[in-house]
Amino acid sequence: MTDGTPPPELRRDPITSNWVILAAGRSKRPHAPAAARVQKGRQQRDCPFCEGRESETPPEICACRTCEGHDCPGWTIRVFPNKFPILTRTAPTANRNQAADPDRRPAAGSHEVIVDSPFHNLTPWEIGRDQVLAMLQMYRDRILAYRSDALVEYVHIIRNHKAGGAASQEHPHSQLFGLPFIPPMIDSELSGFEGEWSTEAACLMCDIIRDEEGNESRMVDANDSFVAFSPFASRLPYETWIVPREHQQRFEDCGDLDSMAELMTGLLNRYRTQLGDPPFNYWIHTYPLHGESRPFHWHLEIMPRITVPGGLEMGAGVWVNTVAPEDAATALRKK
Ligand SMILES: [Zn+2]
Ligand SMILES: [Zn+2]
Ligand SMILES: [Zn+2]
Repeated sequence: MTDGTPPPELRRDPITSNWVILAAGRSKRPHAPAAARVQKGRQQRDCPFCEGRESETPPEICACRTCEGHDCPGWTIRVFPNKFPILTRTAPTANRNQAADPDRRPAAGSHEVIVDSPFHNLTPWEIGRDQVLAMLQMYRDRILAYRSDALVEYVHIIRNHKAGGAASQEHPHSQLFGLPFIPPMIDSELSGFEGEWSTEAACLMCDIIRDEEGNESRMVDANDSFVAFSPFASRLPYETWIVPREHQQRFEDCGDLDSMAELMTGLLNRYRTQLGDPPFNYWIHTYPLHGESRPFHWHLEIMPRITVPGGLEMGAGVWVNTVAPEDAATALRKK
């Protein structure tokens, strides 16, 4: 390269052992202007997630409310089954084709919508830390509600932010998928943690936290209970992980969501102010619901959607990242 950009580099993820290709010369840091703050309280006509339109969603499962009631205004967070679920609790019994084929079965599970802002035009992190805390507490409570559910093996909680992050509704919301199997990425991480555990009798993620704090170049933010960093083998530009310092298998056992809310609020607002509010997805990787014998250390992964995965990513599982995680951390670090 003649313009001073480093040549592409291969990096292997320490947990999954997957290779990514850092090709920093292929793009420049985005500098889209940050979205202007708008006045709180704006509601959108025809949005079924807005306050006052509760009758347009399935009946609520639970809610954080400032007043008594059910399926009525006065909530700050509201949870209900997805109107167009990809998995259903009352899945029909297997039809003749499914019964005859071990590789087919009814899509039994659950699919919930967590509307985590009462405002159509304000995300929880724009409202503030207390709203993010209430959202995280709702995530925890919903996972706990599935602990005794024999049908569901894994609870996957996600956010798709903006249409570019695959959000089908503009109103801020998260989703919960109660899966009747352990998803492949969790399976792969469980194997990764296990490999390390068996050789060194230590937790791989606890080691990663120590390394990142010692090295500092990929650290984004930290407080007494949590760290946020750009992972060594980041798959996409500005990928960030939020990880508890204390070794914990499960998100729902975390006793200090307040510290997580503090760190997450600051970080997501910096995506907004310093990167121009790109679309993103985040998800929690936690231990499966049942059993506890395998090593794991839960974490939240944020994946901005600044570049579009192509045939190499989708066809070969090889990610090309055009922003070095060290540069991403510098851009996202608390000023
Ligand atoms: Zn709305
Ligand atoms: Zn650990
Ligand atoms: Zn993970």
